[in-house]
Amino acid sequence: MEDVLRKQRAVFTEARPEPIEARKSRIERAMKLLKEHGDDLCKVMSADFGNRSPMQSMITDIAGTVNFGKYCLKHVDKWSKPERRSVQFPLGLLGAKAELRYEPKGVIGILSPWNFPVNLTFGPLMQVFAAGNRAMIKPSEFTAKTSLMMQELVEEYFTPDECAVFTGGPEVAAAFSELPFDHLVFTGSTATGRKVMEAASKNLVPVTLELGGKSPVILGESADFAKAGERIAMGKMMNAGQICLAPDYMYVPEGKQDEAIHGVWQGTAKMYPSLLENEDYASLVSDRHFDRLQDMVADARDKGAEVIEVNPGNEDFGSSNARKMPLTILKGVTDDMKAMQEEIFGPVLPVKTYRQLDEAIDYVNRNDRPLGLYYFGDDSNERETVLTRTISGGVTVNDVIFHVSMEDLPFGGVGSSGMGSYHGIEGFREFSHARSVYTQPKIDVAKLGGFKPPYGPGTEKAVRSMMK
Ligand code: NAD
Repeated sequence: MEDVLRKQRAVFTEARPEPIEARKSRIERAMKLLKEHGDDLCKVMSADFGNRSPMQSMITDIAGTVNFGKYCLKHVDKWSKPERRSVQFPLGLLGAKAELRYEPKGVIGILSPWNFPVNLTFGPLMQVFAAGNRAMIKPSEFTAKTSLMMQELVEEYFTPDECAVFTGGPEVAAAFSELPFDHLVFTGSTATGRKVMEAASKNLVPVTLELGGKSPVILGESADFAKAGERIAMGKMMNAGQICLAPDYMYVPEGKQDEAIHGVWQGTAKMYPSLLENEDYASLVSDRHFDRLQDMVADARDKGAEVIEVNPGNEDFGSSNARKMPLTILKGVTDDMKAMQEEIFGPVLPVKTYRQLDEAIDYVNRNDRPLGLYYFGDDSNERETVLTRTISGGVTVNDVIFHVSMEDLPFGGVGSSGMGSYHGIEGFREFSHARSVYTQPKIDVAKLGGFKPPYGPGTEKAVRSMMK
């Protein structure tokens, strides 16, 4: 990996200044790779998960990422134009100039997770390329077949100086995160994100951390509970809840709890009349992940929660080894339960109730800053109260997750849900170095401004005018 990094950086340096066409060609090849091998990638993703709908994968991992590539191609010229900045009066009149140039950083490392293995690798890659960088990628070991296929395809579509993929487990990942990259993008859990930042700090490598957390759904009195239930069910059941932005828990008005749960139940049953043999419903990625969720539900039950299984087809999950789990709603949860302490990352939905909206706001503020926050309701004052009194990476109003699919909105966390963002112009800037360039006019500005020794009345005049 060190050799590849050295080589990539040497070629990067040698090739500068690279025409914008070189960046576009890389984005186009990444899109071509996805278009030509989308079906194959969907098949291996399904094999890696046990079952994962190829149609879902096509939307979430292939088409969505190709579309993002299109967006980057469309905007890269505009994004990479230098910006004129103003200079203090009267420097402009004297011919001084200030501009900001967005320049590539060099070689960027991408560490990606298993839950959307193609999207979360090729998504950042599109903007890493748009900003003119080279890339080294280490995808997840949990989706090993997909990672291997991505490695083979990248070898086919790119030279090793443009992009290289390394496969392997946590040891490889740890070594990867220690490399002296020019920037490192990590998508994964908060716990691993901490390790990655620590490793990167040894070389002062700047990081983008796309992490997780418990994204709350707050339902107001004015919410349409049937519609909200359907949308929450969609967000919770897609990829079997294994989404960083999945609605983690619901906070509902005390008198509306049953109506809210009924809405989610109906929404789930409508989309998934059965689960075990249903191709649309994903398996949990590994036995370890499956066991963790079973344990989380058992822990909640032991500590007094009411457990409601949404099993519309009345299927026997106990006798299946498909690692499929029905949506499991937890009523009456308390803070000492694992379900309220850890990111759920699966089809388990705790429900909390409030008498006053402030209780929900205070709860969110007492806990780690979430990646997403969702508000349902038509009351604009209430919505603004929720939005202006909480902090989260992003927000979707009257639905869940959708803000991530807006290509022009930056996507990222805050606090323990991450730092930095990509998507939108912000993503291009994240992977660029904003270099300030000032051009001095012919006239002796230092003397004119009184900065040049010997100091005297001119200096005093300049100080007085600045302090006014
Ligand atoms: P993870 O943190 O276990 O693994 C992510 C990557 O880190 C993998 O490639 C893995 O090989 C690597 N890794 C493991 N140990 C490492 C170490 N010591 N040093 C460096 N790298 C190491 O995460 P996961 O289980 O693959 O993904 C689930 C988590 O990711 C959830 O918390 C979820 O919320 C989060 N996530 C966040 C986003 C986002 O965009 N914010 C998207 C998807 C998932």
